[in-house]
Amino acid sequence: MAKLAITGGGRCNISNNFESIRSLEEVYPRGANFMKRALAEFPPEHLLDWFRKRGVEFITEDGGRIFPASQDAGEIVRVLLKAITGVRIDCNCRLDSLPEDSGFIVVTTGGGKGMEILGDLPVKIVPPVPSLFTFNLSDTPDGNRSSLCTLMGTSCEAGLSIPGTKFHSEGDLLVTDWGLSGPAALRLSSYAARHLAEHQYRSPVTVRWMNCPEETLRTMITGIKERNPRKMLKSVHPEGLSARLWEYLLKQSGLRDDMLWAELGSKGLNKLVQVILADNYYISGKTRFRDEFVSCGGVSLSSVNIKTLESKEREGLFFAGEILDIDAVTGGFNLQAAWSTAYIVAKTIINRYDTQDF
Ligand SMILES: Cc1cc2nc3c(=O)[nH]c(=O)nc-3n(C[C@H](O)[C@H](O)[C@H](O)COP(=O)(O)OP(=O)(O)OC[C@H]3O[C@@H](n4cnc5c(N)ncnc54)[C@H](O)[C@@H]3O)c2cc1C
Repeated sequence: MAKLAITGGGRCNISNNFESIRSLEEVYPRGANFMKRALAEFPPEHLLDWFRKRGVEFITEDGGRIFPASQDAGEIVRVLLKAITGVRIDCNCRLDSLPEDSGFIVVTTGGGKGMEILGDLPVKIVPPVPSLFTFNLSDTPDGNRSSLCTLMGTSCEAGLSIPGTKFHSEGDLLVTDWGLSGPAALRLSSYAARHLAEHQYRSPVTVRWMNCPEETLRTMITGIKERNPRKMLKSVHPEGLSARLWEYLLKQSGLRDDMLWAELGSKGLNKLVQVILADNYYISGKTRFRDEFVSCGGVSLSSVNIKTLESKEREGLFFAGEILDIDAVTGGFNLQAAWSTAYIVAKTIINRYDTQDF
């Protein structure tokens, strides 16, 4: 509950309406197939209805992100605490192992250290590594802070990719004083979480400053040149790039910013296009995003019955939430996975163990 109270920067991005999502793989890099089933069993609408019946109203923000209208994660916590009657809650009480003698156990201890409780249990674990972090950036493999960081605060719609791999992302990219952040960086950190961990968070990374085909960009720049022959390169820039970023990209391309557009030859044009579409840097480490992170890895879905989330090895042992090898990009998808998996486990327990409906 303490963690829930700080989700979404204290506003609790409780779920997502999934309306702009083309495929679940896009948002659940691990567990997409399973989430298809879980979302059919307990979709966001059922979750919201449950809370609405208890007086909570919701708002939807860009990207389909759903928050309580009160903008207060505490409201969600209070409603949950009020709803769980007849249950003893022990706070500040760490378990080192699971009790042997209970009828059923649900493990919801989250990712990372929460997995330690599983000890030597015969459960297949996919080793946990962090996901959802921002990138520290340098210009050379062993270099210091990248020159790009002088543009701190600049943001634009961009693409990010790791050369030689399939990992790429698109979205808002924010230049920070240490490197790259914003949805495009967080998504890439999620897609490539294991790859980056295996490479000690050191890797080449390519920024595509404009998400358009090369031909479109060439036509756009040639058009600017034809319309502004007597103006300096720095005074007219393509739409979508800020003046500050444009001046930086001119420098990256080895072009003088006071050169006239009429003087831009094919060599200069080629270099400019190349830098805009593939500007190369190095990831030299990772930084937490507003203390927000999730674990990639956990209890393997191959070791649980996917209809009940019960261990295949030990009857009565269930898993829900982040301890499972399911994780998502930001946007309310991680909490929705926790709600849906918890529902599946609760339903099984109610049906099988003849507990009271709750
Ligand atoms: C700062 C932050 C903000 C986030 N914001 C969002 C958001 O807005 N939207 C979203 O979708 N996702 C968000 N996430 C991710 C989301 O919080 C998690 O995916 C979600 O909380 C997972 O729920 P869970 O119940 O599985 O695990 P947790 O919420 O981590 O709960 C696990 C609980 O188990 C307890 N525990 C662990 N080990 C033991 C033990 N040995 N004995 C006893 N207790 C133990 C922990 O203390 C904790 O209370 C955020 C994550 C962070 C860190």
